[in-house]
Amino acid sequence: MDNNYIQGDIFNYTEEKKEKEPEHFETRSKKDFYFSYSKFSLYSECPLKYRFKYIDKIPEKPKAFFYLGRVVHSVLEFFYSRVPPPDITELINYLKTEWERIPFDQRGYATKEAENLDINKTINIIKNFYIKHKDNDKIPFLLEYKTFVPIDNIVANIIADKIEYEGNGKISIVDYKTGREGNRNNDQLYFYQKISEIDPQMIEKINKKYNENVKRVEVNKMVYYYVEKLKTVEFSRANDTEIERFWERVLMTVENIQSKKFEPKPTEKSCSWCDYKQVCPVYNDKKTNSLSELTTEFIKLKNNIEELEDKKKKIEKEIISMMGENNELYDTSLNLKFEKNMKYEFKSTDELVEILKANDLYEKVSRPTVRAVLELLKSDEINSQIKDKIKKLSNISYQIVVKEEKQKE
Ligand code: SF4
Repeated sequence: MDNNYIQGDIFNYTEEKKEKEPEHFETRSKKDFYFSYSKFSLYSECPLKYRFKYIDKIPEKPKAFFYLGRVVHSVLEFFYSRVPPPDITELINYLKTEWERIPFDQRGYATKEAENLDINKTINIIKNFYIKHKDNDKIPFLLEYKTFVPIDNIVANIIADKIEYEGNGKISIVDYKTGREGNRNNDQLYFYQKISEIDPQMIEKINKKYNENVKRVEVNKMVYYYVEKLKTVEFSRANDTEIERFWERVLMTVENIQSKKFEPKPTEKSCSWCDYKQVCPVYNDKKTNSLSELTTEFIKLKNNIEELEDKKKKIEKEIISMMGENNELYDTSLNLKFEKNMKYEFKSTDELVEILKANDLYEKVSRPTVRAVLELLKSDEINSQIKDKIKKLSNISYQIVVKEEKQKE
């Protein structure tokens, strides 16, 4: 089997629709354990999410991307319902009717504008699909085929978008993908292959429709059809060992569900798309923990910064003292210039203003800023006695400014 399968895609209507209760559920025993690929996939993603959805039956919010997928699937089913296919006008009308089938608030759109964008997108998807396939002259073997197959104490169900019969009991299963092409794992393909090949209803349908007498069905290939890109990705049949190993995982999952093992499995991806965040204790704990983790980290960093600032000040003082009377120092190994900048501060602005006013100097400085007073100290307009008084009020310190500059030759 081709191993280039792609990872499960949340924008996949096919998987979502499988979660609906089987049509003939009432005719089966209530004790039957119905299991589908989407259930398996959800449990694998997060067992607690599975419990919220399938055991506690807490409804999820409608999702716009599932809605678009539902309508596309429905229009394609209509397209293949006859030969020649319905023309584009009929398809678009069908699309519009399908779109209106349920009320706006159940379609998953926040605004009408957002919905209109998706309606136009869907119309384009269908137009392009029509252009490519309008000459189709064959009604597929099965469309939207649902089956429920009892196996290993469960009832496994699949819903295939389209199944083509290739003769001699061989089929190909087509799954429409309305989401983007991404990395998928093989699980969906394995699940479909396993169930299709043991489905007695499938054999019956082949023999009836093609007047054959096949005893077993074999999946020849599985096809993912990316509707928006009109791209087909084909996978050949998995071998029996692959299927056996996969089925062991399915049965283990069923056993875990029946033993009520619903351990949460929080991951950024699954939690961000999860509708159960409000009721999920793990998610809420995680949020609290991460807030407390952040505040602890913040305090740690703050303390580190203070410690480093102290250390920096001590070293700065040492460098300044080593510079002596020089205002510049070059470190040729680092290619840096260290400049000594004087920092002048007044201990008391009130006292300074008093001195300036008493000596008729206040008017000479528009405001007693450090720069203005320093200019005054440099001038000859005031005597040394006043200069000393002002100097006594001041604190002088030095700071190092580092500049990237080559030493001048
Ligand atoms: S929020 Fe995360 S951990 Fe909680 S149920 Fe959802 S996916 Fe699981």
